[in-house]
Amino acid sequence: RRGLAYLSISLLGNRGIPGIQERTLVAVKPDGVQRRLVGDVIKRFERRGFKLVGMKLLQANEGILSEHYHELRRKPFYPALIHYMTSGPVVAMVWEGFNVVRTSRAMVGDTNSTEAKPGTIRGDFSVHVSRNVIHASDSVETAQREISLWFHSSELVDWECCDHNITYQ
Ligand code: ADP
Repeated sequence: RRGLAYLSISLLGNRGIPGIQERTLVAVKPDGVQRRLVGDVIKRFERRGFKLVGMKLLQANEGILSEHYHELRRKPFYPALIHYMTSGPVVAMVWEGFNVVRTSRAMVGDTNSTEAKPGTIRGDFSVHVSRNVIHASDSVETAQREISLWFHSSELVDWECCDHNITYQ
């Protein structure tokens, strides 16, 4: 029976592990792009073991941002946030892997850079909440909504990572 289970796991290429194909939206914000931090951000996600399935550099417009930050529309900092997010290009990415939404939030650190722990992206690269370098979706549902907002399905690549079995078995 154990042999059969092993065989089915091998045939599935470990994709049977729940949560392994979870995806999240990560975006390097305009301050991060200006400060040439894109490479550092990518490196952290790659090293952690996540798989990049989509990436683009774009100048975000108010339309996409007003949808993206819909829940914050009544906050006093909202106009400044939209101004900041349209001040230059952002690099939007979709990362895939086990528990990627929660793990990304831990890697990114607290929204308020002052509270963000050293070792997190915000804790290492930013000092103020209004310029906090990076966005990462805060739940699986939000991630699905944000991914379809920022990416067309044809822009996402389903590919097999050669170290998949080393990462997950
Ligand atoms: P997160 O980006 O950690 O999910 P929120 O969704 O609460 O946090 O806020 C979205 C973004 O709005 C933050 O990343 C930050 O850029 C900006 N923001 C949040 N709070 C403030 C604030 N008090 N002053 C200025 N900008 C803020």
